[in-house]
Amino acid sequence: MGNLHADLMAFHPEVTGSSILVSVRYPNGKRTKFGVDFGMFQEEKYTSLNKKIPFNPEELAFMLVTHSHIDHTGRLPFLVKKGFNKKIYLTKGTNLLIMPALKDSYKILREREKLFGKKEKAIYNYDDVRRTKELLEPVDFERSIQVDEHIKIMFFMNGHLFGAAMILVRISYEGEEDINLFFTGDYNDHNTFFKVDPLPKWVTRLPITIVIESTYGNMKSSDVEKIFKKNSLSSLNQGKTEIAPVFSLGRAQEGLYEAKTWQSEGELSTDIPIYLAGKLAYKNTNILLRNPDIFRIKKDMRDFLPENFHYIDSNSIKTILLDKNPKLIFTSSGMGTNGPAQVFLPEYLPKKNAIIHFMGYLSENSKGYQIMNTPDGECIKFNGRMIPKNAEVYCTSEYSAHAKQDALIKLLKKFENKRMVIINHGSTQAQCDFAAEVVKQTDSKEVGIFEGKNLFRVNHWGFEKSINTHFQ
Ligand SMILES: [Zn+2]
Ligand SMILES: [Zn+2]
Repeated sequence: MGNLHADLMAFHPEVTGSSILVSVRYPNGKRTKFGVDFGMFQEEKYTSLNKKIPFNPEELAFMLVTHSHIDHTGRLPFLVKKGFNKKIYLTKGTNLLIMPALKDSYKILREREKLFGKKEKAIYNYDDVRRTKELLEPVDFERSIQVDEHIKIMFFMNGHLFGAAMILVRISYEGEEDINLFFTGDYNDHNTFFKVDPLPKWVTRLPITIVIESTYGNMKSSDVEKIFKKNSLSSLNQGKTEIAPVFSLGRAQEGLYEAKTWQSEGELSTDIPIYLAGKLAYKNTNILLRNPDIFRIKKDMRDFLPENFHYIDSNSIKTILLDKNPKLIFTSSGMGTNGPAQVFLPEYLPKKNAIIHFMGYLSENSKGYQIMNTPDGECIKFNGRMIPKNAEVYCTSEYSAHAKQDALIKLLKKFENKRMVIINHGSTQAQCDFAAEVVKQTDSKEVGIFEGKNLFRVNHWGFEKSINTHFQ
């Protein structure tokens, strides 16, 4: 016998591979275990962790998914392969986007297997992806779902991505005070395409333990410089070709909409064609165009494609590469490492009349990072070929889907009764810097960072103890 408590533990040391495990212990000695996200490790130094599941998937009562990004969902089929067969709760929007994402993730796994052989054997197969689909349980925002005898969940809108949510978990047991847990997932307070409903007052008044991301926990919104429009317009109007590597979901559509506004304001001639390359980017664009209500897209943004827009496929790519006229090409992947960017970057990097504009975060092992950090005129290796860097190259964080430090603090301040704040999903430095700010700027009773095999035990009143042990 004991008090009602919950043990929380994360398996991701930094940004990718997001997965949090919660083990609830009831006074009668019974336990319920569940997970929040189960993502793929994409940072090169952590990819070996993809093969490991440090708990028994069969013991999980259910899974919760915050959003469709691969670093939050990419290992769900592996969990299913290893015995998980319960419901996976997610929003209706994420439900539409998760299958293309998982299929793409499976494709990348197979490509890595071909490239590296046994060492990088794909951790699941297509059948596991299909079985994962059968477990998906789409739910509405702000609807209370009883997922277990003692556990209720509710999804809230989140500006990070189409379909993204923050999740409230309420654990009740007769004769005990409730434990309330709140998972921000990746968080943004706004989105270009939809209005983010504010959290209801009854939620922000709950005594609560919050698990919050910190990707840009050490960056301020005012640090962001808006350069994409200026750079793009001046280059395109000078007759240059622009390559803009984008993430397939969010950034790709934002870029297209931005170009449409330049056209409608007369700043960009509609004679200059705008292209999108990348199968997943194209699939996602169509899902969004077909389901504006599910994604709550603003009325005037539902038709976000610019004029003179074309999709690039394997047939048209050759003609486009030969064409000398100015054009704007949005291409996946966002960091330049995968997708058609592997064709466009070596083609245009040597050209003086080209501009390459990365539109988001570049991790240290990415092609984009390498390009950004190579001095002008020097060479970069692409599949063994030495390619000189002559094009203008930029990177902007103005389209980031992650809230900066000030917006993260603002979210925390909304909660009037913070029992504990646990920081995750950031580089080690960002997590530490942000934790210090949370202590300084908010009235959280306790602030923690997930570290190694550390787990936090919390109850209704917040932090109970920190245990350095294997998850049990
Ligand atoms: Zn994300
Ligand atoms: Zn993430």
